[in-house]
Amino acid sequence: MKHVLSVASECAPLVKTGGLADVVGALPGAMIGQGWAVRTFLPGYPAVVQALEKPRTVLKEADFFGGPVKVLSGRAEGLDLLVFDAPHLFERDGSPYLDAGGADWPDNALRFAAFSKMAARLAGGAIKGWRPDVVHGHDWQAGLVPLYLRDDANRPGTLLTIHNVAFHGLAPASAIASLELDRADFTSDGFEFWNQISALKAGIVYSDKINTVSATYARELLTPEFGMGMDGVLKTRASDLTGILNGIDTDLWNPATDPAIQTYTTPRGKAKAKAALRAEFDLPVADGPLTVVVSRLSEQKGLDALLNALPALIDHGGQLALLGTGDKALEAAWRAAASHPNVGVHIGYDEGRSHRMIAGADAILVPSRFEPCGLTQLYGLRYGTLPVVARTGGLADTVIDANPVALASGVATGVQFHPVTADAIAGAFARLLDLWRVPDVWAKMQRNAMRQPVGWEASAPLYAALYESIAR
Ligand code: ADP
Repeated sequence: MKHVLSVASECAPLVKTGGLADVVGALPGAMIGQGWAVRTFLPGYPAVVQALEKPRTVLKEADFFGGPVKVLSGRAEGLDLLVFDAPHLFERDGSPYLDAGGADWPDNALRFAAFSKMAARLAGGAIKGWRPDVVHGHDWQAGLVPLYLRDDANRPGTLLTIHNVAFHGLAPASAIASLELDRADFTSDGFEFWNQISALKAGIVYSDKINTVSATYARELLTPEFGMGMDGVLKTRASDLTGILNGIDTDLWNPATDPAIQTYTTPRGKAKAKAALRAEFDLPVADGPLTVVVSRLSEQKGLDALLNALPALIDHGGQLALLGTGDKALEAAWRAAASHPNVGVHIGYDEGRSHRMIAGADAILVPSRFEPCGLTQLYGLRYGTLPVVARTGGLADTVIDANPVALASGVATGVQFHPVTADAIAGAFARLLDLWRVPDVWAKMQRNAMRQPVGWEASAPLYAALYESIAR
């Protein structure tokens, strides 16, 4: 067995704001069969520290980035965890990144620099009897790990996974000393990004290999349109950058056992779940397809464009139910849209409801402007809830558009559209309705969707090969 230290700011089901958490939580289970034992290093948020079963202190420092810290080892939710118990940095209410008022914690750069520095120590062998072959960092929160490890001759191989390039992990140049960085690396070949420190850029520059979560997004990242300013530096690393598609937890998202749908291997199960979903969102009985959205409400997700496409959807007999939270202006706009009888909106974060929605709906819409992988379209596929997606990133890689050739060869699983505009979304709905009106075609697409592998079976061996290529 070989060993990986996975370093991340989120891990489902303990702490989650998005798909990153799902992937970090699923990776250990996916990799064990490949001969890789994954230990996950997480910040000591209250929920994580409390969840640890029989924690043991494996490391202690009286003053680490401004306060006393410990590293706890233990299990929680079936995961083998190391936890950075640093009360002055992580013992806070609110989300991992935001205070109760929704603003970034002012010391985020310091919090995750300390976390990354401790990760580098663990990776370098600070725990007696355990030394990983690979350290696998996720997003900017772990971006500094390979830089802190750079001068360690015995360091493990380093991998950075970019789940979302939009978050750069910036800090002012004046923070170089407090983040325990070296001013000599504050250059355009180092961690300097437009005269600021960027933890993400450090990860890109100093990791042995870099990957992202779909092949299409890996290509898109090299373009100005999608690279968000990192396309230049990513191009210099293009030969070390690959795309490996995320899987979903097929036990958690299993229509055969999910209480949200009970016996949905039969159309009757779906009909029951749909009726319950209509009731839950106060939607009238109707003949058209019921489409759902489960999403963060942010510019990325294209839900402003969807608002403008709503009339086209509803005028043709469709219904829409949305679950989401995030941007306050979008929350208000969607609350207002719910005044239409065929639009149901729930503002909030609610896992149980998300299962009931994906179980009961006919289609799931993902109109993202960019989408590294996307998970909800994969849930949709598994539940026979046909995805209607923007043709970008992982959405493009996971949904087979119902074009004439795909329909004729019987392989279609959903609808793709481009660009993310109200007109294009309306056009996609029109195509969805055409498919809906031919029940045999719809049922065939549902069967195709449900048969598509959406777990980790294809991607786990790819991660194993990537780990193997950098292991030291
Ligand atoms: P991102 O990471 O950009 O938010 P993904 O599609 O990769 O997008 O992952 C989002 C994850 O968060 C999915 O598991 C989705 O079901 C979940 N999710 C998003 N918003 C909500 C919500 N309001 N309630 C419940 N689950 C949500």
